[in-house]
Amino acid sequence: MRTTELTPTLFQLTKARMMNAYLVREDDGLTLVDTTINAADELIAAAGELGAPIRRIALTHGHGDHVGSLDALRAKLGREVPVLISEPDARALAGEAVDYGQKRRGSWPKLATRPDVLLAPGDRVGSLEVVACPGHTPGHIAFLDVRDRSLIAGDALHSIGRLTVPSQPSLPFPLVWLGTCDRRRVVQSARALRAREPELLALGHGRALRSPLEAMDLAITRAARAA
Ligand SMILES: [Zn+2]
Repeated sequence: MRTTELTPTLFQLTKARMMNAYLVREDDGLTLVDTTINAADELIAAAGELGAPIRRIALTHGHGDHVGSLDALRAKLGREVPVLISEPDARALAGEAVDYGQKRRGSWPKLATRPDVLLAPGDRVGSLEVVACPGHTPGHIAFLDVRDRSLIAGDALHSIGRLTVPSQPSLPFPLVWLGTCDRRRVVQSARALRAREPELLALGHGRALRSPLEAMDLAITRAARAA
């Protein structure tokens, strides 16, 4: 797992060169955003290198490549490190009936860990504001750091190859598109994220982009044209 310092408070943790989790520095320690797969020890070690404990685990959505270290993290960190996720994705993970928009897509693993906090748009997780961006999954959320407008956007877009809204397949990396439940709504959500004018865009798959507005406009235009 490779750690990249994106800002003084945001660290990208890359597993197998294609899956990202993030550590966000707060006064009381670290918020882990997403977990990749089978990476509990590596995530805890990365936090250790930053010299701070993981205080909470916030999830952009419930797909397996984002929640895939959760049970092992719970076993190692205990219940005092709460797990936070949106209500629709919590229900989807629990196997309840959920409106996926168009279709249930992507992997929804059965987890032993139950979320402790259900997040809604506008909620705060430390310095992070919860921003709704449904479409990839029914309850997909992004986290906007109000200190510097860094946006952790999960699979609302990806940047393997060029920046892409996953309403359409992208040849170097079709997985995010294949996993996208509502391919109309994901375009609306990309526009909503663009409207928040992030200074930095950090994603579940691919590199982070600084000053991403122009690239987001191009990706949204391409997606709208293809729709
Ligand atoms: Zn996903």
